[in-house]
Amino acid sequence: MTFDLSARLAERHAAHLYRRRPLLESPQGPLVQVDGRELLAFCSNDYLGLANHPDVVAAMQQGVARWGVGGGASHLVIGHSTPHHELEEALAEFTGRPRALLFSTGYMANLAAVTALVGRGDSVLEDRLNHASLLDAGLLSGARFSRYLHNDVASLASRLEKTDGNTLVVTDGVFSMDGDLAELPALCAAARARGAWLMVDDAHGFGPLGATGGGIVEHFGLGIEDVPVLVGTLGKGFGTAGAFVAGSEELIETLIQFARPYIYTTSQPPAVACATLKSLELLRSEHWRREHLARLIARFRQGAEEIGLSLMDSPTPIQPILVGDSERALQLSARLRERGLLVGAIRPPTVPAGTARLRVTLTASHSEAQLDRLLDCLAQCWPEVADA
Ligand SMILES: *Cc1c(COP(=O)(O)O)cnc(C)c1O
Repeated sequence: MTFDLSARLAERHAAHLYRRRPLLESPQGPLVQVDGRELLAFCSNDYLGLANHPDVVAAMQQGVARWGVGGGASHLVIGHSTPHHELEEALAEFTGRPRALLFSTGYMANLAAVTALVGRGDSVLEDRLNHASLLDAGLLSGARFSRYLHNDVASLASRLEKTDGNTLVVTDGVFSMDGDLAELPALCAAARARGAWLMVDDAHGFGPLGATGGGIVEHFGLGIEDVPVLVGTLGKGFGTAGAFVAGSEELIETLIQFARPYIYTTSQPPAVACATLKSLELLRSEHWRREHLARLIARFRQGAEEIGLSLMDSPTPIQPILVGDSERALQLSARLRERGLLVGAIRPPTVPAGTARLRVTLTASHSEAQLDRLLDCLAQCWPEVADA
């Protein structure tokens, strides 16, 4: 036996599932330089347009000047610096939770929270469309792992009857590939009725959702009793990098004591925390970003409907166009690219088989004219691909 990597790669190719990385040769924004060409992009998660905001850039530059570059050590040794600490305090205040804990990535925050809370003899129940990091965390935890039907409270409730030990129910807040919202009030009620804890990963809700960008819990008005474990990531709506878990004093101390993905890694560069403190300020106060985004979303949905595109039940900046077949999704993406537009084709295994799609994302930096250009190009390209 030997590793036959070329056969694996060839198989992926043949199934139209081969991945390539577009090379970004400019900062993030609606107009980007990619693989030597200027394109109008509708695929970043920089929903509020903060990734290249001059004030955020300046905050990071000043942070580097004051704090240097590297975190230098793990948080528990000597890597927990003042900007990290201030950001944690600001995120706790922002989320209305007693404490928040900063991580370098959302993937790690999810691994940390799930594995610190449940283990062998416990149970973890997850929405079947949860982000890969949440599913991986559930498997890694060693707890009894079960997936309920997407956003289906009855399916969750029936699984809650068969759990052992401590039970953690885990869901995306905004589903990353569909853009729909978790039915949080009903999920909370089902979990609470059984003494289970609910963990919400709102990577795509913080920023665009809620009156002050507080995400899905602000949108539904849910407190810490409803959602004891709240995760946010900083690389999307915040436009920077990292993630946080917000919750009770005991929850955060438990993570600091027991969460291996927290303990055994170097802290993020302090200057990144300086940048996030600035972007948090803009995210909360500049309501025009959310308002503009809401107008773009409504305009896109109306225009797409007129073209006859198949959209999903999404009130968020994630507006996927369902294509179904992976090859056709790639074709549609390629035709748009010929016309100067960049929209990613999302294929299995990232999404379930037969549900390949174009994942259109809108940001507060897009103009209405740019959105209209997308709709015009879709109107031209869609019939060619749909009839193919
Ligand atoms: C992007 C994402 C993550 C991972 O966050 P990173 O900071 O990019 O590692 C986790 N959960 C969800 C739902 C995401 O969309």
